[in-house]
Amino acid sequence: MPKDSFGREIDYLRISLIDACNLRCVYCMPEHARFALLKDLLTAAQIESVARAAVSVGYRKFRLTGGEPTLRPDLVEIVERLAAVKGVGDLAMTTNAVTLPKLAHRLKQAGLKRVNVHLDSLDPQNLRQQMRWGSLEDIWAGIMAAEEAGLTPIKLNAVVAAGFNESDVVDLARLTIDRNWHVRFIELMPLGTGECAQLSIQRYVSNIETRRRIELALGPLMELSPTTLADESRNYRLANTRGIIGFISPVSAPYCGNCNRMRLTADGKFHLCLLNDDELDVKAALMNGGGQEKVAQILLKAVALKPTGHRLLQGRSTTERLMHQLGG
Ligand code: SAM
Ligand code: SF4
Repeated sequence: MPKDSFGREIDYLRISLIDACNLRCVYCMPEHARFALLKDLLTAAQIESVARAAVSVGYRKFRLTGGEPTLRPDLVEIVERLAAVKGVGDLAMTTNAVTLPKLAHRLKQAGLKRVNVHLDSLDPQNLRQQMRWGSLEDIWAGIMAAEEAGLTPIKLNAVVAAGFNESDVVDLARLTIDRNWHVRFIELMPLGTGECAQLSIQRYVSNIETRRRIELALGPLMELSPTTLADESRNYRLANTRGIIGFISPVSAPYCGNCNRMRLTADGKFHLCLLNDDELDVKAALMNGGGQEKVAQILLKAVALKPTGHRLLQGRSTTERLMHQLGG
């Protein structure tokens, strides 16, 4: 398994398929964001080549993300190609679920194992304010479609933002009472240098506060022991409930020491750490006919150069890309 210079095993590749999205969450992208042209993104075959190279050096865990990965016209083909790579043990996707009523069954058949769905609120108005073009009805229909297709266990991701949804965390947590879902609360991270970064700083809510709100309303949370150290979510359960409540706290409780992630951007760069700008280009090698060995070499170099420790508290983060260009 590839180890970085800090001794961390980096065996999880998050593949961004596209930077475009059908929603406009306020902390993720400006309403009039501009996107890369489809022709400039890695092709399905190139993505498969990177996955084969990653498997050859010990990667086993893969996640598709975006932007919104379901906007990629060849998504089903990409899933089929990746699922057919021997060694791709775990293939998951992070999505806003809006298109899942149409796609969930085909994705399951193609080999996708499960989905994480982004849902910030159960209050239709608050959700619309925060996820802008999103509607609770559409996202909920997508979650139901995913569950019905067996893209399980379902995980929900909610980003908590002051003045938008900080009191809605209780209703989201309540979903775990009679559903076997994993509801996770994410702290805002500032990326880029514009309005999204500013908003993410101004509306930041610590998960200490979110946990307090949930416990005040629903009772004490019992901590669960981690199934893997690399899980960025600290997990809990309310008494006598079916689901899990998780807290992803990059700001108040950084987990860089256990990071196992490498990111591939839709335009063909290994992005070494979510909260830094360092990248290594892999697209040029793919375009120049570089085979599996060349791509594996670049990936191992990317692992070796992976930094540790973010500088969010000093007000520094990734400046060159926004979250929709990285995938979370
Ligand atoms: N469109 C898909 C979705 O929303 O799940 C996949 C891509 S999205 C960039 C991945 C995750 O990033 C989502 O769970 C979203 O909530 C999270 N995210 C976006 N901007 C963020 C920010 N500024 N801070 C923390 N999380 C953020
Ligand atoms: Fe789209 Fe996901 Fe970004 Fe929201 S967080 S705008 S759903 S890419």
